[in-house]
Amino acid sequence: MPVGAALPIVQSCEATACAYNGEHHCHAAAITIGDSGTAPCETFMSADLRGGVDSGDAQVGACKQAACVHNENLECTAEEISVDTSGASAVCLTYAPR
Ligand code: SF4
Repeated sequence: MPVGAALPIVQSCEATACAYNGEHHCHAAAITIGDSGTAPCETFMSADLRGGVDSGDAQVGACKQAACVHNENLECTAEEISVDTSGASAVCLTYAPR
């Protein structure tokens, strides 16, 4: 991905227990997806407090999930992703194995 290219948008997030979630949108400026088998959102934080930016258009800043078809050089190339709750954490629903 070239420097300055638009980053993928987090189109929706159903992890409403997360401190960055507001009305099913992620309000973190950018998130990181981790490298375990479930493509976990590493930005997820279960807490009563709420934080993040007003826009609700979080981007995927980095993704360690090299096994995903959308991943190039540990960056996501999808136009947008969706995130959902998985147990006590959150995962990238757009993940697709190579
Ligand atoms: S779609 Fe694939 S490359 Fe993009 S954030 Fe999700 S797991 Fe990472």
